[in-house]
Amino acid sequence: MQTIGLIGGISWKSTAEYYRLINQAVLERLGGVHSARIVMVSVDFDEIARLQHADRWDELGGIMAEAALSLERAGADFILICANTMHLVLDAVEAATRLPVLHIVDPTAAAMAARGISRAGLLGTAFTMERPFFAERLRGVCGIETIVPDSTGRAEIHRIIFEELVAGKVEPAARARFRSLIEELASAGAEAVILGCTELVLLVEPGGAYAVPLFDTTGLHAAAAVERALG
Ligand code: GLU
Repeated sequence: MQTIGLIGGISWKSTAEYYRLINQAVLERLGGVHSARIVMVSVDFDEIARLQHADRWDELGGIMAEAALSLERAGADFILICANTMHLVLDAVEAATRLPVLHIVDPTAAAMAARGISRAGLLGTAFTMERPFFAERLRGVCGIETIVPDSTGRAEIHRIIFEELVAGKVEPAARARFRSLIEELASAGAEAVILGCTELVLLVEPGGAYAVPLFDTTGLHAAAAVERALG
């Protein structure tokens, strides 16, 4: 089994999901009392969020690069950046380490392509919805086009992520808005909606039915890590 390197704390609520999902999948695959080999660097999200909103991506790249190097020194075989937004500084991470980085878009692309999706709604932070890094990678890997909510909708989901979800708050109003945004994207032609922020899975109602299928980047990324680690 390979050792999975996690850059976590972005935020810790979703990193906890990664940790649980990865170990659960290893247990299911190997049985007995197996669990995953993991090393993790977990950062202080307050600093990350401040730098993101101040547009200081060079410094963020430095923090992520340092984390990647620590994972390499600690014996990781490959790296996951446990967030969508921080893939904005992927270049800095890849320049800092010889380890491969398992990109969060790739398993999401593969899962949607397997379902024949050609147009998907994208929900995430404003950085992920408004900058090209996610949409371009998705289009490049599998030709799937993305659409995003209007500016009010984008601001609402961004606020819910940064003021509620990363602090572990899951409010009924946020669940309702999340559901209506999915409906709006479906009406605008989305055949599926990508949960392009690793905290958004917290808003999904267990057993709840939505207008279109949801593709959760957290679960797909964690599953891809287990595939790779177990070979
Ligand atoms: N976990 C998040 C994501 O997947 C948001 C936190 C951040 O801005 O880094 O984009």
